[in-house]
Amino acid sequence: MTGIRVGRLFGIELAVHPSWFFVLVFFASTLATGFFPRAHPEWGLTTTWGIAVAATLLLFASVVAHELGHSLVARSQGVPVSGITLFLLGGVARLGREPDSPGREAWMAVAGPLVSVAIAGGSLGAASLVPGPDQLVALLTYLGVVNAVLVAFNLLPGFPMDGGRVLRALLWRITGDRVRATVWAAGVGQAFAWLFIALGTGQILVAGGLGGVWLILVGWMLIQAARATARQTVVEDLLTGVSARRLMTTPRGWLSPYMTLAWAARDRLRDWDTRCLPVAPEDPDAEYGGLMCVRDLERTAPDRYDHDRVRDVMTPTADLPTVTPETGAADVLRLLREKEADRAVVVDRGGRLLGFVDAEAFARFLSVRRRPDGRLKPPSRAA
Ligand SMILES: [Zn+2]
Repeated sequence: MTGIRVGRLFGIELAVHPSWFFVLVFFASTLATGFFPRAHPEWGLTTTWGIAVAATLLLFASVVAHELGHSLVARSQGVPVSGITLFLLGGVARLGREPDSPGREAWMAVAGPLVSVAIAGGSLGAASLVPGPDQLVALLTYLGVVNAVLVAFNLLPGFPMDGGRVLRALLWRITGDRVRATVWAAGVGQAFAWLFIALGTGQILVAGGLGGVWLILVGWMLIQAARATARQTVVEDLLTGVSARRLMTTPRGWLSPYMTLAWAARDRLRDWDTRCLPVAPEDPDAEYGGLMCVRDLERTAPDRYDHDRVRDVMTPTADLPTVTPETGAADVLRLLREKEADRAVVVDRGGRLLGFVDAEAFARFLSVRRRPDGRLKPPSRAA
């Protein structure tokens, strides 16, 4: 999730996902029509809306500060941070990789809540000290309370919440096994997520209204996040020590960029029984022009096969992530995810194409990969 870039803070890119604008409107209107009019019926419409919008923006500024806490600590520990994205449910810091020790993980996890605690304490303290006006006191009180709620929510011990990261760090320290710790912490995270869904359902049935829908949405997204992280950790562990060379398919030959798709499909991809083939360069100085795969054909209407040429549908060199044979398989996978690509080309030091690694290669490799303890799954015994 990258979203629309809006600026940089301490060298860290800040972006907003389109879904964030819905939350902005939803929060501001909930505050302007419910919360503030109930607490301060004497305020006029303009004041109420002005304070509601200011409160919403301050809430998101707090979320950014929280994520900045995680990000700055991560960066100080050598973990690359590609940016912070605000989305439907708050904020997320996009880290280049997972921390490499339980201590670092725990410290990174608590940095965000510590920032929120500081904002909550500062705002509530200031609210009790400033003599007025009412609007300022209400704004500071709101800011203090939402940051306290943010801390309470984030410290629930289920992965991927911050508390869940602390739990994972603890289990990791105790068992020495990061993968098992992640799977357990993600399990606890899913249990909390189901609790949110149950509470949300209960709230809709008893009280009606949108609050319950919100809880269900939070629960559902937490389940997805917990599952995805657990899966990713297990996969990266299975790929430890595996290089791109191991997953690489060496092409049987080349395609000409001017071949029709019908010719390429029938006489090359099908007859050579391969998923992808490199395309010869049109520029004589280039090593290769691109890569054409069965997937590219599938995106083209069959009645175009006799007219369109390989160069029209191939993925050109500029759009292909490149790796070397020595690149770790987990790094290749991360690169594909980051570039939202389904294939990478493997090149030697001179830039010559050696082969390609695609999503199918990972799927096939992982389906027969040994378990982390080195044992292969035993074949099921026939009765
Ligand atoms: Zn956090």
